[in-house]
Amino acid sequence: MGGQSASQERFEEFGERAEGWAAMDRREFLRTTAAVSAGLLAGGGALSSFPEVGYASAWAPLSFPRLVLYNCSLFDGIQGHLQRDKMVVVEEGRIRAVEPRGDLGAFSHYETVDLGGRTLLPGLIDNHVHITVPFINRVTLGAIRQMDRQIVKNFHSCVMGGVTTVRDVGGFPAKVIEFRAMADANEIPGPRVISSLSPIAARKGDDLGAPGSAPYFTNPVIKWFLGGNYAERPTRVEEIEEACDRMIALGAQWLKTLHQDHTFSYYPRPLPNHSDEGYRAILAKGREAGIKCALHEPLVSGFKKGVDLGFHTLEHTPCDGEIPDADIEKFMKQGMAIMPTMVVQGDVLITDQLLELLETHGEELLVPESLEQITAQVKELKALQSRDLSEDEQRALHYEPRYSADMFANVQANVKKLVAMGADVGIGTDIGNPSTQLFGRYPDELRHFAALGIPNADILRRATSLNARIIERQDRIGSIEKGREADLIAVRGDPLADLRALDRVDVVMKGGIFVKSEGVELG
Ligand SMILES: [Zn+2]
Repeated sequence: MGGQSASQERFEEFGERAEGWAAMDRREFLRTTAAVSAGLLAGGGALSSFPEVGYASAWAPLSFPRLVLYNCSLFDGIQGHLQRDKMVVVEEGRIRAVEPRGDLGAFSHYETVDLGGRTLLPGLIDNHVHITVPFINRVTLGAIRQMDRQIVKNFHSCVMGGVTTVRDVGGFPAKVIEFRAMADANEIPGPRVISSLSPIAARKGDDLGAPGSAPYFTNPVIKWFLGGNYAERPTRVEEIEEACDRMIALGAQWLKTLHQDHTFSYYPRPLPNHSDEGYRAILAKGREAGIKCALHEPLVSGFKKGVDLGFHTLEHTPCDGEIPDADIEKFMKQGMAIMPTMVVQGDVLITDQLLELLETHGEELLVPESLEQITAQVKELKALQSRDLSEDEQRALHYEPRYSADMFANVQANVKKLVAMGADVGIGTDIGNPSTQLFGRYPDELRHFAALGIPNADILRRATSLNARIIERQDRIGSIEKGREADLIAVRGDPLADLRALDRVDVVMKGGIFVKSEGVELG
């Protein structure tokens, strides 16, 4: 949603500028196409085409068929307090028992891992990301060549920060499928990915249509390389149905669409949406396939629309006013959930800190091309905020930073109200939104909740067991209980007392496999 974009051409949900492709002259285009094709052929037909993807070759996952984690406190994802001195038995990737610390002698055939008093939690879940976004706005040959490496970095930063499952709500199908498979096979470190593949967006009209001005490729080589488009842009109901069928056939586990009446500005321009009939067609296709539907709705009108039509999840928080009680009550009655994505909506207020983050961690999180482009973007955003814009300038922007900054109080008030009324408010970051939503920033979303006075234990329950229920995986992940997948993280300190404990995750286990094990002895 409304990112840190500072200019008219900026995308909302994807880091490429339509103009980049459109403006590419014919020669450059042919060269690019040839390079892409050559890379694909060199890859032996596999889509993993660039040698730079060897990024993670030094990484070796460690697994033991039977192990016991001991000397730890436990936040099980459900109870609101830490359980002291516990022991977790893991067999074949699953949690077999959670017990008070007992005699380790009974586990002589097990690998025993001393967690040194750390706190063990369920792997964190991020219910709104764009994990294949390359953080690139200006499309150059170098940028294209670095794209896969950036995606590997996204997967890496995400899981190393303790996020073991993400729901991806928009990306290039081929990239999602390719890298998800690599992460599932532990060829690269990465989270479990549940994906909608391409969102079913409305067609771009004269006005920029959400998601921003993300390009719609018609070139068959590029489409083949990316597996389609960042967003599908059907118009007629039959086209909408066809796009849904295509995503479902490709393996979409969710359907995502968007509703946004206007740009983020005090002088808003209208944006295209589907008709109610179109939205109903998406919901019907989801029902038919047994999958749920998400609606991007950063404005109050979108929240109402999502509730009226019966979407399953709403994405982002209405920023242009207060959500009426009656709509929240109906939302709750229908068993809906919302991912507020306060990180993406609040980043406009912290551009200086973001520039510092890029300076200190940029190289770790981004490939060179992305780092350069994102840094330029944040500087542009900051510059835009520091001067008074004319009405014409404001009208021309798809995203007016001062408007979004001023609206953030509405976002906070709405999240507070939803939580107070007992709504299912999950945790989603919109990381992958192209400006500054860098993977690894998950704790920032938790801090936004804490700033509203919500207790840490409740926030962490949302981040784990509630998020798992929202994506219908509560029987497999989101809690430390017998029978669940061994998706576990360990941190020093007590995150229930201080969320900063999550800024540094020492141990990450996904399905019983150690993705990361810093400061603990294995083997
Ligand atoms: Zn998003």
